[in-house]
Amino acid sequence: MNFKSLIRDVPDFPKEGVIFKDITLLLQNPKALKETANALYKLLEGQKIDKVVGMESRGFIFGPILAKKLNAGFVPVRKPGKLPSKTLSETYDLEYGTDTLEIHIDGIEKGDRVLIHDDVLATGGTAKATCRLIEKLGGEIVQLNFLIELTFLEGGSKINNYPVKSLVKY
Ligand code: 5GP
Repeated sequence: MNFKSLIRDVPDFPKEGVIFKDITLLLQNPKALKETANALYKLLEGQKIDKVVGMESRGFIFGPILAKKLNAGFVPVRKPGKLPSKTLSETYDLEYGTDTLEIHIDGIEKGDRVLIHDDVLATGGTAKATCRLIEKLGGEIVQLNFLIELTFLEGGSKINNYPVKSLVKY
């Protein structure tokens, strides 16, 4: 399936100068939804996974679908103040300022084999902070997989000590 034909460029979203990759056309297409989930699952090549970790908010779309296929659990990584129980936080640098992500401290058990999933790998800040959260809780990162990798932003270089896979590259 040609996934790129269902990924739309939206100029100046969420701010001027950014060309946003919009995946909603792909999500609303029944065949594309199924084939995307199957293709992301195939990237794992039969590896055993205990937990799929997805980042707010578009990591919450295919993350749980993958978890179900893998017979794994799903663990959300969220923006500050959204998770109700005890959390671990990680702050990372943006072009201007910082951002913070949180995970429940009981979301990952020591030795858990973890797949990290998000829709887009851009600068890699979100992915790297998520890796740190998981490793601080004793999880083992088996793979990071993305629907889209924006290779010109070189986010992969921030997480090049892990296996990183994506379905579509720009
Ligand atoms: P990074 O931290 O790698 O710069 O940004 C990745 C995060 O921002 C991901 O959680 C992703 O959902 C979101 N993101 C950044 N750029 C885009 C984009 O063009 N399209 C979509 N759908 N998400 C994006």
